[in-house]
Amino acid sequence: SETKSSLPDIAVPKELDLPSFFFSRARQNSAFSGSQAPRPLYIDGDDPSVTLTLAAAESLTTKLASGLYHAAGVRPGHVVAIVMPNSVHYLPITLAVLTLGATCTLANPAYTPSELSHQLSDSQTRVVITTAALYPLTAEAVALLTADTAILLADTNIVPNTRSVFDLLSSRSFPRPSRGQLAPAFIPYSSGTTGLPKGVRLSHANIIANILQITAVHQTNAQHPTNIAVLPMFHSFGLVFLCFVMPISGVTTVVSLKFDLSKFLSLAHQHQATETMLVPPIINALAKLPPKTLTDSLKSLRWVVVGAAPLSADSIAALESLLPKLTILQGYGLTETSPAISLNPPTASKKASVGRLIPSIEAKVIDSFGRVLGKGEVGELCFRGPNVMLGYLNNEDATREAIDDDGYLHTGDIGYIDAQQHVYLTDRKKELIKYNGFQVAPAELEGILLQHPRVSDCAVKGVFDSQRQTEVPRAYLVLKDSEQSGPAIAQQVVEWVNGQVAYYKQLRGGFTLVEAIPRNASGKILRRLLN
Ligand code: AMP
Repeated sequence: SETKSSLPDIAVPKELDLPSFFFSRARQNSAFSGSQAPRPLYIDGDDPSVTLTLAAAESLTTKLASGLYHAAGVRPGHVVAIVMPNSVHYLPITLAVLTLGATCTLANPAYTPSELSHQLSDSQTRVVITTAALYPLTAEAVALLTADTAILLADTNIVPNTRSVFDLLSSRSFPRPSRGQLAPAFIPYSSGTTGLPKGVRLSHANIIANILQITAVHQTNAQHPTNIAVLPMFHSFGLVFLCFVMPISGVTTVVSLKFDLSKFLSLAHQHQATETMLVPPIINALAKLPPKTLTDSLKSLRWVVVGAAPLSADSIAALESLLPKLTILQGYGLTETSPAISLNPPTASKKASVGRLIPSIEAKVIDSFGRVLGKGEVGELCFRGPNVMLGYLNNEDATREAIDDDGYLHTGDIGYIDAQQHVYLTDRKKELIKYNGFQVAPAELEGILLQHPRVSDCAVKGVFDSQRQTEVPRAYLVLKDSEQSGPAIAQQVVEWVNGQVAYYKQLRGGFTLVEAIPRNASGKILRRLLN
């Protein structure tokens, strides 16, 4: 049967675009908007003297928008790529782009030049905003493009012959187009259930809806709510929580350029962090630390929201028992749903569940013939709601495959929903591999492998690495005439691939030599038969 969240529906305020919605909600937090020493929205963890207050964010957004309009020619409907690590300026930069009626595509700064250039050309990016440290990567990627693409820097470091968005700041007026809430705001990339990464078109209304859906379930109740940013802002989970949900909830966020466990612990200690959002491998790593280290650094921590990859109830229990004041709330979502679908509510958390349906979400679970199953039965999870993407970019076939005629997104995740509307994941039907929460598309690695002269056929599949506590991609290889030296050649092939992809896509699961790749009649790889 189909179910709908039993929580009251959210109402997306009409007429507001995301920047106006964001600022009107954030201003409702007196701690951020008071005239006397307002708390900042963001603190730079690497240099705590650098902060961003709400007033500064608002004025910077307008001046950046004006500068991008007058000096960089950004117009409604243009796509601007943000290729940046987390920073106190990520939010105002993205909001400035949106204020102009343009769209942000968010890229992983760990990409190789060819991976980045693929996203830039696919999204028809006009302007790339990046940092001095990432300038060489961006310039190499842009050099591979045929279209004219400008590069702007967004930090105080200087690269000769480049312009910085901070040099363009302007107070001149500019048109504020009303393209409506259904205009695309963000285009992150996801491979969905199959194939190569695709642009996911998320509208202003999609993001506003998800902010309202999340904040309806989870609110902070700390005195001085402070969050340490660990997730990357270019991924939908990080974007929505760190750029929107946290500031709107009155939580100050400490951002730093690069994440590592000891830095996280010292920032949490230094800023008396009350909440944070993490991915499962970090929960597992924390649970292995000496109890005293944990309690010393994380004693102020009250809430952790965790998602993006599987996490066992035991891991949650292990960390909660070491930090008795801490509640770990598992959530679940997808880039295609902006991203949250379910979240464990603070008062009715079920450890083995990835959360309860958030408001305005409708769900159905189907079998392999598309028949709707009953409550508690295991099948493919499908969801409908105001946060379901507009569709994939320039890919109607993929959109039609993902969203059925009734508007339900087919997730490729296998699981069930209990009587209290808690969602449980049991398996994944789609090809997707998740390395530490990052998407790895087997089709992409297979495409590269097939270009190697010694590979006659191949498949890539995720295998669980218990040491790293994450899935890792493994190559199944059929080599051309290599009876003698197969393993040595396969090793070279693996290294050759690893040299061409971002670190998180590397074939950390190694290789397995096989006689043939199992396929069905239509040529589709039968990954289940690969062991
Ligand atoms: P992404 O679009 O990168 O956010 O990836 C979405 C996919 O991540 C989902 O379809 C799931 O397969 C997986 N995922 C997200 N949250 C969880 C979770 N809490 N537990 C297990 N897998 C998850």
